[in-house]
Amino acid sequence: MEPFRQDIRHIKGIGEKRAQALNKLGVFSLFDLISFFPRRYEDRSLIKPIALVQNGEAVCISAVVAEEPRLSRIRRGLDLVRFRAYDDSAEVSITYFNQSYVKNQFHRGRVYRFYGKMELKGSRRSLTNPVFEEAGPADRISVTGQIVPIYRLSAGLQQKGLRQSIRQGLDSFSGRIPEVLPFWVREKYLLPEAEEAYECIHFPSDLRALERARRRFVFEELFVLSCALGCRRRSDVEGIVLPKPDFSDFYALLPFSPTTAQQRAIEEAAQDMASGRRMSRLLQGDVGSGKTLVASALIWQCYLAGFRAAFMAPTEILAEQHFRTLSSFLSPHGVRTALLTGSMRAGEKRQILESMKSGALDLVIGTHALLSEGVQFPGLALTITDEQHRFGVEQRARLGQLTSPDSGSALLPHVYVMSATPIPRTLALIIYGDLSLSALDELPPGRQTVDTFCVGRAYHSRLLAFMKKLCAEGRQVFVVCPKVGEDEAESELSSEPAGAPSLLSAVEYAETLQQELPELRVGCVHGKMKPDEKDRVMQQMFFDELDVLVATTVIEVGVDIPNAALMLVENAERFGLSQLHQLRGRVGRGKHKSYCVLVTDSENEDTRSRMRIMCEMSNGFKIAEEDLRLRGPGDFFGSRQHGLPEMHVADLGTDTETLLKSKEASDSLLAEDPGLSLPEHAALRERVLLLTEKMDGTLN
Ligand code: ADP
Ligand code: MG
Repeated sequence: MEPFRQDIRHIKGIGEKRAQALNKLGVFSLFDLISFFPRRYEDRSLIKPIALVQNGEAVCISAVVAEEPRLSRIRRGLDLVRFRAYDDSAEVSITYFNQSYVKNQFHRGRVYRFYGKMELKGSRRSLTNPVFEEAGPADRISVTGQIVPIYRLSAGLQQKGLRQSIRQGLDSFSGRIPEVLPFWVREKYLLPEAEEAYECIHFPSDLRALERARRRFVFEELFVLSCALGCRRRSDVEGIVLPKPDFSDFYALLPFSPTTAQQRAIEEAAQDMASGRRMSRLLQGDVGSGKTLVASALIWQCYLAGFRAAFMAPTEILAEQHFRTLSSFLSPHGVRTALLTGSMRAGEKRQILESMKSGALDLVIGTHALLSEGVQFPGLALTITDEQHRFGVEQRARLGQLTSPDSGSALLPHVYVMSATPIPRTLALIIYGDLSLSALDELPPGRQTVDTFCVGRAYHSRLLAFMKKLCAEGRQVFVVCPKVGEDEAESELSSEPAGAPSLLSAVEYAETLQQELPELRVGCVHGKMKPDEKDRVMQQMFFDELDVLVATTVIEVGVDIPNAALMLVENAERFGLSQLHQLRGRVGRGKHKSYCVLVTDSENEDTRSRMRIMCEMSNGFKIAEEDLRLRGPGDFFGSRQHGLPEMHVADLGTDTETLLKSKEASDSLLAEDPGLSLPEHAALRERVLLLTEKMDGTLN
C-alpha cells in the first residue's frame, strides 16, 4: 500500500471512533494525518516564577498544590473546583468552572505545571481554567513547557487526542516518510528533509526549527503544484517554423518607435515561432501599453514566412477597431487584411470566407464568427486572441484548429493570447502554467497619468459643473453605474455589507443626468441591450455624437475613445481594484489631460483602502498585486475561474519569493525528466498525481 494513501484505521492506536472524528476534518489517509498542520502555535516554553507574572500575561508556571481541591456547587449548572498553589516566589489561587472531574487529578504536595492567563488584583493572583499537567520530564505531547501546536478540531476530538494521533502517525511512518523534494533542490534552497520537517511542524523544538519546517512546506506545496501544471504544458509539440525577420524593416514604417518592452515581447514570441516548436504564449499588458503593435509585428513575421494569421476580438466594436489599427500598420507591407463579424451581410461574409479558403487573404480579424462551422483558413500559422478572459478554453482550442477539416497531419498554428488584465506574476505563473509569459510593463512615452479622486455623493453638483466644463472644451465623459435598472439584483462585487448606499441604476441615472445637463447629449449602454443596439450607442460615442455615456461595466472591454477625458464611477465601492483600474484605463488614451472620479459614501475599511490605492497607484501590475493581497487568491477571480486547488500552507499573495524559486526548481526538474519517470522521482510523481486528481474538473 502506498504510504501516502494508507487508511488511518491501520495506524496503531487509532480506533474507529477516533478515525471517524478525524474523517470529519478531512483526514483519511496516513498522509492526510501527518499533513494536517496546526492552525497556530502557542509558545509555552517559558516557565516563570509566579511573582514575576504580569496581570493578563499568558504564561506557564510550575507550582506545588497547597491543599486538597474543594468542589463547591454554586447553583444548578454551575460548580467549581478551587485550590491554592505556590512556588518559591508567590502563591496563586486556581479555579476550574464546571470541570468537577479535575478535583481528583490534583494531589496536595505534588508539583504541576499550569498554563493560563494570570489575573492580578492587588496582591491576589488567580488563574481560571488553566491548562495543566503533572510536572515530570516533558514528553512530546506535553501541553506546557514547550511550543504547543493548536489544531482545528471536530466534535469528539480534543487537542491532546489529536496530537496523540499525529504522534502515532509519525511514529508508524517513521523512516518511511516519502521525500518529494530531490536532494539537489533541498540543498540549493536550504530546506530540511521531509522526516525532520514533519516532526518539527507538529512538535517544534524551538521557533527557528518551526520556521525552517514551515518554509519547506510552503516550498513543497508550490513545487508540487508547479510540477503538476508543468506536466500539462505541452512545450514539446512540433510547430510551424516561421523564420525570425529583421524587425527594423517593420519598425521603420511605424508612426512611432516601439518601446523597449514592446521590442522585448516581440523578440520573445518571434523566437518561439522560429524555434520549430509550437508557441503558446500570453502577453500581459496594461490598457494602453501597446499590445496591438506587438501583435502586428508577429503577424508580419508570419506573413513574411508565407503563412496566414487570425486575430479574434471579444466584441464587434473591438474587432473593427483592431481591423483599422492592424491594417494601418500592416497594409504598407502588403498584408491583405479583412474583417469578419456576425453582423455582416451574408453575401459579404460569403465573399470573405471564400477569400480565406482560396488564399486571397493574409490576415482575418473577427469575433466569434471566426469560429463558425465551416470556416476554413488554410495556411493558418498564428492565432491571436485579445482579452482572452472573455473566451473559453474550448474556443481557444477551436481557433487553433481552423486550418482545414482534414488537416490531420498539418501542424497546429502558434497561439498568442493578449490580456489587458494584469495578473500578479505569482498567479500568472500558476494559472497560465501551460503558457509562456511576456509582459508589457512600460507605457509608451508621453502617456500622462490619469488624476484620480475619491469623493462622496455630496459632490454631485460640483461634478456636474466639471462635466459641463470638459464637454464645453470638446471632451467626452464616461459614467459607470453598477446596476442596469431598479429591478435587477445587485450584480457586481458584493464585498460590501447589506445597508451599503443604494445602487444607482444606469438607465435612471442617464435620464436624470439629461435633465440636469440639458445642453449635453447623454447616451446609455448596458448589458441588457441587444448586441447591435449596444454597438450602435458605442459607435455614437466613438464618432463624438454623444458627450456623456452612462454605462454599466460593458465598457470595461478595451474600446479606444481618445477624446474621453473623464471617467466617473458611481458606487465605486461595488467594484474590485482590478475592475476599477480597467475602467480608468478607458480615459487618458489621447493627448488630453484626463481624470477619474470615484464616487462613494462608504466608510467600509476595505473600500477605503481600495480607493486609496486607486488614487495613489497607476501601474496595473502593482494594483493587481494589491488586489491579490487584499482579496486573497480565492477571490481574485472568483475561485472557480482560476481553478487552483486550495493551498494549505502557502499564501499565493505573499509567498512570492518562494513561488518563484519553486517554479524555477520545477522547471529545471521537468526539463530533465518531463514525465517524472525516473525512480528517484517516484514519490514526487505520486504526490503530483494526488494533486492532479484533486484539481481535475476544476482546471481545463
Ligand atoms: P492596448 O491594446 O495594449 O491597450 P493599444 O495597442 O491600443 O494598447 O495602444 C494604445 C495606444 O498607444 C494606441 O493609440 C497606439 O497607437 C499607441 N502606441 C502603441 N505603441 C506606441 C509607442 N511605442 N509609442 C507611442 N504610441 C504608441
Ligand atoms: Mg487593446
